[in-house]
Amino acid sequence: MYRTTFVVSFLLCLCRAIPTPEEKQCGYVSCNAVKDDMINVHLVPHTHDDVGWLKTVDQYYYGARNDIQNAGVQYVLDSVIPELVNDPSKRFIYVEIAFFARWWREQEDNMKTVVKGLVNSGQLEFILGGWCMNDEASTHYNAIIDQHALGFEFLRQNFGGCGRPRIGWQVDPFGHSREQASLFAQFGFDGLFFGRLDYQDKNHRLNTTTMEMLWHGSPDNLGEKSDLFTGVLYNLYQPPGGFDFNQYSSDEPFMDDPRLHDYNVDKKVDDFLKAAKDQAKYYKTNHIMMTMGSDFEYQNAHHWYKNLDKLIHYTNKRQTTDNSKINLLYSTPSCYTYQLNRANKTWPTKSDDFYPYAYREHSFMTGYFTSRAALKGYIRETNAFLQACRQLDALARLAPDFHNSSLKIQVLREAMGVAQHHDAVSGTEKQQVAYDYAMRLANGRSECQKVMNDAMGQLVPKGSEGFMGVFFCDLLNISACSITEQNKQFVMIVYNPLSHSIDHWVRLPVIGSAYSVSGPSGEAIETQMIPVFKRTQNIPERKGYMAKNELVFRVEIPALGYSTYMIKMSEGTHMLRKTTNVRRFSGEPFAIKNKHMSLKFDSNGNWDKLTDLHTGQSVDARSDIVYYHGMAGNCSQGKFQSSGAYIFRPNGTTPQTWTDPPTVVTVDGPLVNEVHTEFSPWVTQVTRQYKDEPYLEVEWTVGPITIVDKMGKEVVVRVNTGMKSDATFYTDANGRDIIKRVRNFRKTWNLNQTESVAGNYYPVNSRIFLRDESSGMQFTVLTDRSQGGASIQDGQLELMVHRRLLYDDSLGVGEPMNETGSDKQGLIIRGKMYVHFGQISDAAKFHREFGLRTYLTPITAFTKTDMNYQDYSMFYNTMWSGLKQELPANIHMLTLEQWGGPTLTPSQTQPYLIRLEHFYENGEDPQLSLPVTVNLQDLFVTFNIASIEELTLGANLAIADLQRLSWNTVDGDLVTDKNNNVYKVENRQKLKGSLDITLNPMEIRTFQVNLKDGPPRQNVDKFTVFS
Ligand SMILES: [Zn+2]
Repeated sequence: MYRTTFVVSFLLCLCRAIPTPEEKQCGYVSCNAVKDDMINVHLVPHTHDDVGWLKTVDQYYYGARNDIQNAGVQYVLDSVIPELVNDPSKRFIYVEIAFFARWWREQEDNMKTVVKGLVNSGQLEFILGGWCMNDEASTHYNAIIDQHALGFEFLRQNFGGCGRPRIGWQVDPFGHSREQASLFAQFGFDGLFFGRLDYQDKNHRLNTTTMEMLWHGSPDNLGEKSDLFTGVLYNLYQPPGGFDFNQYSSDEPFMDDPRLHDYNVDKKVDDFLKAAKDQAKYYKTNHIMMTMGSDFEYQNAHHWYKNLDKLIHYTNKRQTTDNSKINLLYSTPSCYTYQLNRANKTWPTKSDDFYPYAYREHSFMTGYFTSRAALKGYIRETNAFLQACRQLDALARLAPDFHNSSLKIQVLREAMGVAQHHDAVSGTEKQQVAYDYAMRLANGRSECQKVMNDAMGQLVPKGSEGFMGVFFCDLLNISACSITEQNKQFVMIVYNPLSHSIDHWVRLPVIGSAYSVSGPSGEAIETQMIPVFKRTQNIPERKGYMAKNELVFRVEIPALGYSTYMIKMSEGTHMLRKTTNVRRFSGEPFAIKNKHMSLKFDSNGNWDKLTDLHTGQSVDARSDIVYYHGMAGNCSQGKFQSSGAYIFRPNGTTPQTWTDPPTVVTVDGPLVNEVHTEFSPWVTQVTRQYKDEPYLEVEWTVGPITIVDKMGKEVVVRVNTGMKSDATFYTDANGRDIIKRVRNFRKTWNLNQTESVAGNYYPVNSRIFLRDESSGMQFTVLTDRSQGGASIQDGQLELMVHRRLLYDDSLGVGEPMNETGSDKQGLIIRGKMYVHFGQISDAAKFHREFGLRTYLTPITAFTKTDMNYQDYSMFYNTMWSGLKQELPANIHMLTLEQWGGPTLTPSQTQPYLIRLEHFYENGEDPQLSLPVTVNLQDLFVTFNIASIEELTLGANLAIADLQRLSWNTVDGDLVTDKNNNVYKVENRQKLKGSLDITLNPMEIRTFQVNLKDGPPRQNVDKFTVFS
């Protein structure tokens, strides 16, 4: 009954209060008025909706499993909308588009009209606008850009310009990356607000009134383009104490009828005025922002708004009754930002990042840099899969209506979008939620495999010959693949998602002992057989797979193209014995060596000395895999902090080592030499040196981490080089800019270090390195996934690869970080690192190029055939490139896909989206760091470009239409004249229509591309992908 009445009154209200979709008043002009002679308190009603954490994203959406956490996002949006409709002064921000899109799909047209009106009036504002609020430590920039572009495109298609987010809102992530700020600036954002920073940094900023600043996102490369106004929220993202008006809050509501008992208006207003004045002391202008909401709040929005109305009414009444100078208003982060810009103050700047983050002494959130290392690896690998899928869809010009490819790709886009959340890739979710993320990725990959199959059906046959279809092997990471194991003859098509040709080493699990391999021109390919060792065979997830050997060979693949290899089992020969010597280590020191480097092993079989054969320079390279014991504790204070999903806290500063020397087996052959080292039955390592490759591959297999001693363990790969690194090391920011790290030092505040190991850990997305300026040498390690890394002693590097812990760290997840794997004995994880040692001046050339190859590894697909090479090559292309020429050596095609378009007008043909990236930093390399020009004309084999338009990085606005606020800074970078009441803008040059694209170091440019002759397809509604 109640519900019926409510709906009727709501609908009646709609008739008068709602602006129509045509009346667009969004943006800074739609902000509620402020009073310049008062302290203005911007009340920002908001809800923080985790895209999975304790419950899965869908459980959160519906409000299922409320026994775990009372949270149902659908009710938030259901109940906020009528409140906004009833009162034009009210505001609400919505952030996570993964949830909003779910809700939007369920709405009728009339509700959609209502919501569009609210967006157009600025009452409902999309802030951030990513598919999720992504983690900043373990995310790769490619995935960050994609997940935002996904949310932006949903908003653009459904809400047009008023749906374009202008503010970053990273209120919950556990530390903040400079690259994230740079990307936000390139999205065209005017500001960023976040909640969490180190407690000592926060105190320093409060005391020096530097809570708000201009952050230089890429100071050495992109300059102003990457500058972003950034504010630290006063109270994380919570309301001030006593003012949480959520349905389930125990804070008192306003009780304002004096005839009733417990009248509390005077006390409430006094308390609030005190809170406002306290906060205002720490901020530079006469504006402060209060975050009025929290996790999954506003499920019953009326509780909040009814009390906020009273809060505003009674507090502002004091202006007349008590000469109060505090003015409250409903606001949004963008309206607040606009007022700060209007205030025309001079702001401090920041040019490093906000890592690591400790929220109190001993409580460093540096464990999540590594937590759930298998999921982190799967997300990274799946990113390559998604990129390849989109590229092949675009190169094959699949028709969205016929092949349904857009919808299939969308499944993986959304799964990847969800997986970037700050409780997903971060590893800080419950186990059942981690499984859900992995399942989404697996489903998305399966859909994308269909797209890739369709694309190869277009690109592989030479004529009308049918294509037999391809299979994919998703378990190659544990040396398992049905098709290579079960067939005596098969074809491998290996696709290269990079726009440069590459060599790549393939390892195929097989059951035979001898195979012949012929390459794309029918030539015989040299191979080597390597046994699959017991350590790998015993991985429980390999159950049912039988491979006893791996067939190793080098493939050559053209840019954005594929090569085909035919593999055939040979009867009666024993290639394994012929090509490979497997020997148990005898105790004699030995070395592995190729033309680039040699690595000596000592009499215990441990790494001893690494020599760069080009310069003759050597370092001690003593490598082992060791572990810390995770601290146990009840977390009641910092000193009782335990190690857990978020927190890294070892119970000592020196890791545990092994008492016995390792067991060592060497494998020698013509293509690869390997040294298999068993430190313990659950910690093993393979050191590999491939023929002619300038790096060492280190494959680690860790698990099941033993807990028989009832102690959690955090396992690190550690190398002691003896280099004079002077407390300094370098890590990448989300796979892009390199940031200098100095042990026990923070650039903008004096550190009181409470954890000499955990407090020196930093996120490593792709690489970490040491430099010895005296010898001019650099020791670089690239990783295959995000990990925590540090240099705890001079000359030493360590990377945490796996952790298993027995205590919850009391930050909400409510479970110890204890992954048990399919046999419940403890998860085994296998991963790779790549070690390079060379001159500092040459190092970037290696790690930039190899970094690309590591994050976008080739995709292998297989097909069964009885044809011989001559027949196969008559009907099918055995080598093909989508590019007529490779891109310059310092340019990466970050994006190639059929996607969107900058206007709301539907076009007959789907435009393409291309992002080009200069992937060297200024000054890193004498040649490759220079600006370079790419010509897009006649570049692609399957299509020609008719016109291009440059967009912002998020692909939701023509860059010519971008206007950003400008800020005055103390370092004088951006001092501009004051122009009262008009916010200042930087104007962008409009592209002149040329297809010559110039890129400066670290620049990414985004283009919407229209093809000369649109793809062969029917006219379809291109917006259906989001409906
Ligand atoms: Zn959160």
